[in-house]
Amino acid sequence: MHSRTSAPAASSGIVVVGAGLAGPVAAIYLARRFGRVTVLERHTDPRHIPAGQGRSLMVILSDRGWRVLRELGLEEAVRRICAPLTARCGHLPDGSTEVTPYSRDGAPIWAVERHRLHRLLLDAAQAEPGVHLHFERPVLAVDLEAPAIQVRAGTAERWIPCRHILGCDGVHSVVRTALVERGAQEQVSTLELAYQEIVLDLPSCDRGLMHYWPAGDALFGAFPLVSSSKFAGSVFFRREGPRPSYAAAVGGRALAQQFAEIFPSLAAGIPDLEEQLATKPVSHVRLTRCDRWALGGTAVLVGDSCHAMAPFMGQGMNCAFEDVRTLVNCLDKERDWARAFTEYERIRRGDGDAIADISYQHYRTMSRLPDPQDDAEEAIARRLVALMPDHFVPLYERCAFSEESYSSALAEERRLRELARRILSRHGDAAVHLPDPRLRACVSSA
Ligand SMILES: Cc1cc2nc3c(=O)[nH]c(=O)nc-3n(C[C@H](O)[C@H](O)[C@H](O)COP(=O)(O)OP(=O)(O)OC[C@H]3O[C@@H](n4cnc5c(N)ncnc54)[C@H](O)[C@@H]3O)c2cc1C
Repeated sequence: MHSRTSAPAASSGIVVVGAGLAGPVAAIYLARRFGRVTVLERHTDPRHIPAGQGRSLMVILSDRGWRVLRELGLEEAVRRICAPLTARCGHLPDGSTEVTPYSRDGAPIWAVERHRLHRLLLDAAQAEPGVHLHFERPVLAVDLEAPAIQVRAGTAERWIPCRHILGCDGVHSVVRTALVERGAQEQVSTLELAYQEIVLDLPSCDRGLMHYWPAGDALFGAFPLVSSSKFAGSVFFRREGPRPSYAAAVGGRALAQQFAEIFPSLAAGIPDLEEQLATKPVSHVRLTRCDRWALGGTAVLVGDSCHAMAPFMGQGMNCAFEDVRTLVNCLDKERDWARAFTEYERIRRGDGDAIADISYQHYRTMSRLPDPQDDAEEAIARRLVALMPDHFVPLYERCAFSEESYSSALAEERRLRELARRILSRHGDAAVHLPDPRLRACVSSA
């Protein structure tokens, strides 16, 4: 038991720690079922500070996220601030482009400026009867036995008794720390890549597509901004190691030189490249896993607090929203908090790990340069998908356009890749050109 530094304030039944992207969503769902929900956020209300100071300027919404927004009655309002993207367009070093539709039926994913979505979610939570949002209220510690949370308000610190605590507090979760103190095992690491965000003009790029420039050890990706004619770009370099890396190029001029060596066609079109690289922060991506997401009916983790992942699939927030929906479905079914939390963890933990693996792998897919062996496997996998569309569904589509569990999506993708590898090893490079009936026969005989 932690010592109390001051008398506890009024008791709060349900406390949501964190008002990032998942916190307001969780608060609205819970307030509609259980009444009062207290949300504690360590930072200043982002609606009162200039936009564009957080993580990525843009986030992508796909089906899992939309399902939640629809259930909360926010779909139309969010749709108004989004732009559809139907494909990603790779700009290869030889000057050619490669367009990969996000879905086979042309359905788009949706780009939205993070700060606008965040504000909209906070407004919605604030307008929801029962939700009480408190900013500049960092939670310092969580006592899972009491249960109670220690909160700072100005210079005062106090313990607030509560019954149920939702950890929507992101990668540095204090709720997760409390679970770790009770024996949970966490894995926290930093992606080997760091990134900077650059705003740029790309006059010849289609605004209905996401654009990326693969460079093996580096990657540049750009989304059209919705509220301006510019694009929001992110350059990813390795943190350590030889050029290109952030360790090997320090300062605006060195970074601009490195950028120009790796992405010459882009650099020529960004007149303030050096200034942007000198002033924009280099951000690191933290990765998290935890082998326990809940303790009794007292505490439960949601979103980045239990599965912060590499950003390349655009699923972190979508997955966090789906976590909340799954949790609430469990509460609706079980009507007992401890059983609901256990069931939520049982359903969801494997999915959190799976989408983290998929997201990391997707970086390799996007950044890699043409490679004959990989390309042959990829070509066979694509042909199988085209030939037997009911049997094989592209991984991206499974994640972004369905509510299939991420674990099953990953297992199916591994099955497809294994099959492609087997066909390739049996028939050699000629496998890529096998006539359709023979390729189909390979599937049946596999
Ligand atoms: C570069 C980049 C691009 C991305 N693009 C996409 C995308 O396109 N699509 C997508 O779905 N996802 C994307 N993501 C992932 C997405 O941003 C996260 O998955 C999402 O923000 C998770 O929401 P969350 O509420 O769990 O955590 P967060 O949004 O991080 O919110 C956590 C909140 O808790 C608060 N907090 C932390 N500790 C405390 C404390 N002790 N007391 C009180 N408050 C606390 C924090 O201040 C924060 O407001 C991207 C991530 C990155 C880094």
